[in-house]
Amino acid sequence: MTGSLYIVATPIGNRDDITARAVQVLRKVTVIAAEDTRHSRPLLLHHGIDTALMTVHDHNERDAVDGVIARLKAGDDVALISDAGTPLVSDPGFRLVRAVRAEGLRVVPVPGPCAAIAALSVAGLPSDRFVFEGFLAAKASARRTRLQALATETRTIIFYESGHRIVEALADMRDVFGPSRAAVLARELTKIYETVIDEPLQSLATRVAGDPDQQKGECVVLVAGAGDDADARLVEGKRVFALLREELPASRAAKLAAAITGAPRKELYEVGD
Ligand code: SAM
Repeated sequence: MTGSLYIVATPIGNRDDITARAVQVLRKVTVIAAEDTRHSRPLLLHHGIDTALMTVHDHNERDAVDGVIARLKAGDDVALISDAGTPLVSDPGFRLVRAVRAEGLRVVPVPGPCAAIAALSVAGLPSDRFVFEGFLAAKASARRTRLQALATETRTIIFYESGHRIVEALADMRDVFGPSRAAVLARELTKIYETVIDEPLQSLATRVAGDPDQQKGECVVLVAGAGDDADARLVEGKRVFALLREELPASRAAKLAAAITGAPRKELYEVGD
């Protein structure tokens, strides 16, 4: 009999947000593969789990895969946890799961907390369709390029961000998506300083830039999808203008971009020239 690899979600803050099944599984497996054993041990002890631990993180995942597969083939059950929430969601585990599945071994989900879904559940933004973007790039140019690619996305967009970069990220979102696009900042969910602010990007960016307390901790930013409104037309107009401007004089590029997108020609010309 081969063992199973359990992918177990753990809390994103409040230590009691763990399912009864997660606790049972973490107690009964032979070994728990954790991203950071020092981080996870207090949580495990809090729930009376003293299972042996091994480390699987971004830097050793390739090597750890062979060890885990050997254990599974020997009949041991293994659980994978990350520092918070659901493994593989902006966390290690993808290589491991792919390799274990490729061996024909069983991978079992033990679902639970995920910051993106927790944030979506309280944001009050359309939730029937959404896209998860995870972390934006740390470099400003790469971050803006990615945001540009999302400017006409019509589904609710979910980003992860750390407090250190939240001011820059919100400013870029405001510039690319437009000042009046609806957005929500969900910070420190399930923790003492849990905050959920829902405001258009202009006021959200200004508020967070002016309040150091809102720049601390872990953040999820949700942005409403582009609608058929003036902001969306302007965003698309700017994008088309920038492309045409590479080949044409500004006035001609603005005229064409305005005709293609319905954005006001004057605003494109002023913005782009
Ligand atoms: N695997 C995790 C999950 O299921 O949500 C995400 C891990 S990722 C390395 C960490 C990021 O998730 C943080 O930078 C933040 O964007 C988000 N996050 C995690 N916990 C959070 C919380 N309590 N409140 C808000 N965002 C959180």
